[in-house]
Amino acid sequence: MSTVYLKRKITPRVVNGHPWVFANEVEKIEGEVQAGDIVELYTHDKKFVGKGYINPKSQILVRLLTRNKADIINDDYFTERIRQCWEYRKKIGYTENCRLVFGEADSLPQLIIDKFNDYFVIQTLALGIDVWKPALVKAINTVFQPKGIYERNDVPVRELEGLSQQKGFLSAPFDTNIVINENGLRFHVDIENGQKTGYFLDQQDNRRAIRHIVKDAEVLGAFTYTGTFEIHAAHYGAKSVLGLDISANAVTQANRNAELNGVQDRCRFETANAFDVLKQWGKEGRQYDVVMLDPPAFTKSRETIQKAITGYKEINLRGMKLVRPGGFLVTSSCTNLVHPELFLQTIDMAAKDARRRIRQVTFQAQASDHPIIWGMENTNYLKFLIVQVL
Ligand code: SAH
Repeated sequence: MSTVYLKRKITPRVVNGHPWVFANEVEKIEGEVQAGDIVELYTHDKKFVGKGYINPKSQILVRLLTRNKADIINDDYFTERIRQCWEYRKKIGYTENCRLVFGEADSLPQLIIDKFNDYFVIQTLALGIDVWKPALVKAINTVFQPKGIYERNDVPVRELEGLSQQKGFLSAPFDTNIVINENGLRFHVDIENGQKTGYFLDQQDNRRAIRHIVKDAEVLGAFTYTGTFEIHAAHYGAKSVLGLDISANAVTQANRNAELNGVQDRCRFETANAFDVLKQWGKEGRQYDVVMLDPPAFTKSRETIQKAITGYKEINLRGMKLVRPGGFLVTSSCTNLVHPELFLQTIDMAAKDARRRIRQVTFQAQASDHPIIWGMENTNYLKFLIVQVL
């Protein structure tokens, strides 16, 4: 096994828990390395740090899998890790649907596995984990009795690793349109063509947080995707719910989900650009008791973070103006580039511009099956805020 030595000044960050080593942080490499190999990592003064996978084609040269020298990285290792991930999810109360593996937060860098009851969706986003795909499939088959396993590697970030974008079955083919249960409701999930892995499990606990404020309310939701928040609102007793998404496919799926839950009489979805429509309705003086926003990331790179902040501020400003005095704004941000503190500042700016005072009801992160690792900022990515708009 080849050995990688860290530069002196990098050592503390990695020794203190960060699992990534960039190419320019390495002092020297002893031995031949092939992309995807397991290597041992040492400090500049030859103390063992851990074992991980290497990819000379990637800016992140090494990603650590373990800090235990005795661990042998083989098929059994991955079976044991998947078993531990499952034990942890069960321990914290996620049994039916969950993010079974959340990459770095589970010491399985760049690996995502979502469990939709008996169906599993995998993303292997770095070469060093992609080579273990057969082992991961074997592990899922050992730990569970899956009805189907699907690969959603149609993700651009794979190209930075020299990998192609692809999707397809990792088990015998199955009907990829499934129905999942969440909070007593049912949702169609399109594993093959839905966004990301097909469904946003990270909001599953936050969807329950609207329970009391939507009772008897007129609710407007924007960026609804398959309508999850809106259908929860109807279920929790909203008088009427209108959901908007720019994607006609998402709207079709959302209306089907409303029917599936028998709430189609008071919950409907329309195709619209939320930025335009919210602005227009503000001018017309329309008012709602609850406005819910769950926009996309707006940016993927640190360089254009200002673009994201502008987007969040604009949409929240427009949303707030539509809230009746004493009503509520339910708002999210899913990019790790906008830290929780910065998100709150952005909402504060929006409130000031809208000339509204706000009162915080709750501020949450993603569901706990997506663990947050202190010191790894990008694991603390989802912000979910409810404010009363006075
Ligand atoms: N709330 C959803 C997830 C939303 S994902 C859930 O809990 O599952 C973000 C959604 O915003 C996507 O479905 C995307 O199609 C939609 N979107 C992006 N830009 C938009 C715009 N300008 N107006 C309306 N919807 C938009």
